[in-house]
Amino acid sequence: MKTKCLIIGSGPAGYTAAIYASRANLSPIIVEGPQPGGQLTTTTEVENFPGYFEGVQGPRLMEDLRTQALRFGAEIITGTVTEVDFSTRPFKATVDGGKTIVEGDTVIISTGASARYLGLPDEKKYQGLGVSACATCDGFFFRKRPVAVVGGGDTACEEALYLAGLASKVYLIVRKDFLRASKVMQKRVFENEKIEVLFNTNTTGLEGEEVLERAHLVRFKGTPQEDHFTIDIDGFFLAIGHQPNTKIFEGKIALDPQGYILTEGRSTATNIAGVFAAGDVADPQYQQAISAAGMGCRAALDAERFLMLQE
Ligand code: NDP
Repeated sequence: MKTKCLIIGSGPAGYTAAIYASRANLSPIIVEGPQPGGQLTTTTEVENFPGYFEGVQGPRLMEDLRTQALRFGAEIITGTVTEVDFSTRPFKATVDGGKTIVEGDTVIISTGASARYLGLPDEKKYQGLGVSACATCDGFFFRKRPVAVVGGGDTACEEALYLAGLASKVYLIVRKDFLRASKVMQKRVFENEKIEVLFNTNTTGLEGEEVLERAHLVRFKGTPQEDHFTIDIDGFFLAIGHQPNTKIFEGKIALDPQGYILTEGRSTATNIAGVFAAGDVADPQYQQAISAAGMGCRAALDAERFLMLQE
């Protein structure tokens, strides 16, 4: 397959890039990736995407963006890019290990970011048996049971609030003595009777016979008040930020030390002429659906200008 504009990834950045690229007659092809629609498909209510003044469910928002991209002729491939070749033009992307090869005169990388884990050995052991990084995906399994959420950002608060609607009790495990979430989220968390916030607390281990049954925690670690204790929980939800999905681009494109794609100045250009990056994969700072969408728009405009200058 061949296109003037290949878009890798299908979150708000990828779909917005596709809307702009298709309206500019670039006939874009989007390879959707392992999670079509991206991270918003695992959230519930989105209240801050402009235009949806009454709020919108994350999956619905992504469906709307996808429909808008299709409306202007974008082509969507269901599959995951497993290898890229940016050494010659046209650029090449291998989908699902060779099932399809897509050639692009330009490429927009919008592969987003994925949830981070603490790195405890027990996290893997209880994956799917109590440990999860997506409350909206797995919260249902913990109805009327006690759970914990780790993190102090907006995601952690959102997940804690969502789980409070299902679980019998929600511990919010926060390593510092404050929440970094927005004030409105903090207020909702503090006002929710089912949520107990454990400040200055870290997780040291997880335990259970076959499935997760308890978490071992430490408060004020490394101080004279250090206090080890255990909470009985069936679910342990990670909400400690994300890491960029750039594994397949390592050694092929310039990344920062955290693995985010580096872009030049105010543009979405990478160090490879004709390859652009948009959304969370290139943005460790803002990481909002709307900022990703805005960057997707800029990437499509940059790609269009690049092709025009080539001609
Ligand atoms: P954040 O980076 O904002 O927060 C991550 C949280 O996890 C912090 O409290 C951090 O602690 C904690 N953390 C990180 N590593 C560890 C660790 N090893 N052990 C324990 N705790 C850890 O990530 P979010 O995913 O919450 O949010 C990302 C962006 O998306 C933000 O800009 C946020 O505002 C936005 N967002 C907005 C939403 C909305 O408006 N509806 C919903 C969800 C996200 P510490 O504070 O100590 O660093």
